[in-house]
Parts: sequence; C-alpha cells; structure tokens
Amino acid sequence: MTLRYNTPIVKKFSAILLDMDGVLYHGHQPLNHAIEFMQSIQHIPHCFITNNPTLSPRKIADKLETMGFNRPATESILTSGEATALWLYGQKKSFRYFAIGAEGLRDALNKYGQYDEQHADYVVIGEGAGIDYTSLTTGINLIINHKARLVSTNPDNTVDGEIKGKHVILPGGGTLVSPFIQATGQQPVTIGKPFPLLYEMAIKKLGVKAQDCLMIGDRPDTDIKGAANLGMKTALVRTGRFIPNESLPADCPVPDWDILNLAQLQQALESLT
Ligand SMILES: [Mg+2]
Repeated sequence: MTLRYNTPIVKKFSAILLDMDGVLYHGHQPLNHAIEFMQSIQHIPHCFITNNPTLSPRKIADKLETMGFNRPATESILTSGEATALWLYGQKKSFRYFAIGAEGLRDALNKYGQYDEQHADYVVIGEGAGIDYTSLTTGINLIINHKARLVSTNPDNTVDGEIKGKHVILPGGGTLVSPFIQATGQQPVTIGKPFPLLYEMAIKKLGVKAQDCLMIGDRPDTDIKGAANLGMKTALVRTGRFIPNESLPADCPVPDWDILNLAQLQQALESLT
C-alpha cells in the first residue's frame, strides 16, 4: 500500500490526540514502531483518548510503562469513564449516580460524585460486568420514577478483549445501554467517540482549538469520524480494526492521511520540520 495523503503535507496542527488500542498496542503487545513514535512526538502536546472506561488513567500509564513506553502523565490520559465523571460534575457539582461498569468507571465517578441507588440523578452505563436483572430493574426505576438521566460512556457495540490470554469479543457500552433505552424510551447522553464530548474535554485540557489538532486512530467510524466532524486533522493507521487496502465504510469521512502504520506517520511528520 502506498502512502496516501489526502491533503497537502503542511504542518497544520500544534497538538495530537491519540487512540491507543489498535494504534499503540494490541492487548498487552506494543505495535511495531509505536514506542519510537511516541518518543518522536514527546515535544508535541498530546493527549491519549480512549472509549474504554474500564481502566483508570493510572492503570493505563502502568500498562504503557510495562510495555516499554515512556510513562505518560496520568493527566494526559482521558478515558470515557473520566470524561463521563467530569461531564456529570459540570452538570451538577454534587451529583448522585447509579452505575453499571468496571472499576475504572466507578473510581472516576467516586472522585466527583456519590453512589446512591435510591436517589441517583444519573444512571451511568459503561463496559464491564454487573448488568443483571437486579441492576437493570434499579436503573430503569431510577429513570422512570425518579427522572434520572441516562448516560452512556461510549457507543461501541462490541470491543476486543482477552479472557485467559485468548482474544474474545466483549459487549461494548452501546450494547449494555440498549436495554435501558428499550425499557425507558430515553436516549442516553453518550460521552465517547464519535460523539464530541470526549474530544472537547481533551482539547480543553491541552488548551488548543479543534482545528489545531491531529487525531490518530484506527477506526474510521469512531476515531476519524468524530474528529473530522469537529474540524480536526485526521490520520488513520491500518494497524487495528482496518487492515491495509480494506475499503472504508461509505458513510465515514475520508481521513486526511490514510497510512499503513506509525512508522510512516513519523516519517511524514519528520518531513514537515
Ligand atoms: Mg482503537
């Protein structure tokens, strides 16, 4: 596959947003050249953004360090779980919540709000174990009888995971929130990509405008679509969900740069300086 630039090669960004799974690593394996790439952009302000709410920023920093990356500052990692908690705090300073999801989401919510399954203002659904008849009943009653707002960390229907070292497909946030939509008729506020909130919080952290950012991702339907909608520059790497030469979905914007891997992107960035 040849290197294809869909816009002229000029440096039009001053900050970088990066997806992680499929861009920097698969599971617990760093992708080829990802460590060198991250070293090459250390001087550029950047933020890691992920739809995965299951791990806290500290655990993600641990994971990156264990794989051989320079340990990033936890402030440079924004998960959909963290972004959800920040968004709720922005809506109501002392919010009460009921949540279904993994430890990373609960840790984030507990930093800013209080768990209350009787009087929650928000029913938050993220990835991870915990959905069952009882929790569905609690959440549905909070929404219908107590006017709680339904919030979804991310819209992914499925996500890649590992059980006992084997790759498995796990239900994503979009799948887990669907019984609540079905039961209550309420559409959730969705925080993760391709919706704007996660990107907007990341660029606020970096203090830049959307049009000054380059988003690097492996999914045209989430990473690239959401970033392009906000006016960011986009780079699609073919190391994750989409393999080289695979056609892109018709309803997705064409990325500015459609490239094989981070080695090619580094080469392109170095040619700009
Ligand atoms: Mg990805």
